[in-house]
Amino acid sequence: MGRAKVFVTRKLFDEAISLIEEYADVEVYESEEEPAPYDLILDKVRDIDGLLCLLTDKIDARIIEAGECLKVISNYAVGYDNIDVEAATKRGIYVTNTPGVLTETTADLAWAILMAIARRVVEADKYVRAGKWVHAWGPKMMLGSDVHGKTLGIVGLGRIGSAVARRAKGFNMRVIYYDVFRREDLERELGLEYKPLEELLKEADYVTLHVPLTKETYHLIGEKELDLMKPTAYLINTSRGAVIDQKALYKALKERRIAGAALDVFEKEPIDPDDPLLELDNVVLTPHIGSASVETRKKMAMIAAENLVSVLRGVEPPNLVNPEVRRIRPLKPRE
Ligand code: NAP
Repeated sequence: MGRAKVFVTRKLFDEAISLIEEYADVEVYESEEEPAPYDLILDKVRDIDGLLCLLTDKIDARIIEAGECLKVISNYAVGYDNIDVEAATKRGIYVTNTPGVLTETTADLAWAILMAIARRVVEADKYVRAGKWVHAWGPKMMLGSDVHGKTLGIVGLGRIGSAVARRAKGFNMRVIYYDVFRREDLERELGLEYKPLEELLKEADYVTLHVPLTKETYHLIGEKELDLMKPTAYLINTSRGAVIDQKALYKALKERRIAGAALDVFEKEPIDPDDPLLELDNVVLTPHIGSASVETRKKMAMIAAENLVSVLRGVEPPNLVNPEVRRIRPLKPRE
């Protein structure tokens, strides 16, 4: 048996590539920023055993069908809504992701943008730079909203949602949550209260989203849900853009039916330069940087490499997304 072949769709950390090279011949799309074109991936996949891809790569049924020897698709992200997992499973292809290592980093960012919108940090920075700070101090200058002591509503109490809840303790907040399943262990440990989504939206001062993007969570927050929120409440999204109906959100923000929003993710990424959201001052926007710390991105690269190499060696990968695949193509150790 010859060496396995792997295609990596973006320049990653060298350590991760070296790890794959111990077991396979690796070709890397030599760009740090620009995604590999769809047609290039379609072409490369015909001849490879393993694909290491990013959430910006749409790995649809067409690409999966073309991958005749493809055994593993290793996603460099915890969310895997960019991959047609069903099509991969049918073809006996293992799909893996990078959960856990990015949990705390993403929870940090959710808090960073929550604080930024509540206390108008970005607006205040622009104000100073624009030379608008002409009187030293004013009783009503740049007034924001308190965070401490308020009610935080978490939608999706998984890894990141619960890390966000842990941080809320330090702010002495009341924390309510909604999830498909109740987490009574966390309710006890962190003093959380379970609420149906509608009640959570009515009661929370800050609503923060941490669900995966699925058929069920697509546009989970639309006009009706936004109308349930208090006019003084803020919406924070570090999950996936399409969990919110972005047009409905724009309207609610423009008409001040909610106080503001902080968004790390968008229905279309990158956001269009003429998107009307960019004109609003009651929104903080970051370019999908939830997991973007040096430490975490390195760990994600190593885990993505480890997941990929495991399958190529016929060993169970640490983070398998589609366990049903084991029945279709059981792994056999290959040394
Ligand atoms: P996770 O541990 O799987 O947590 C997601 C939670 O949402 C789970 O408790 C899940 O319940 C729940 N859920 C699923 N469908 C739901 C629904 N229809 N209604 C209510 N709750 C639902 O995932 P995670 O590691 O916390 O990550 C969450 C998401 O964050 C990822 O999928 C990814 O899209 C996003 N993310 C974004 C960034 C960024 O850069 N901004 C970084 C990392 C992650 P079950 O477990 O029962 O399904």
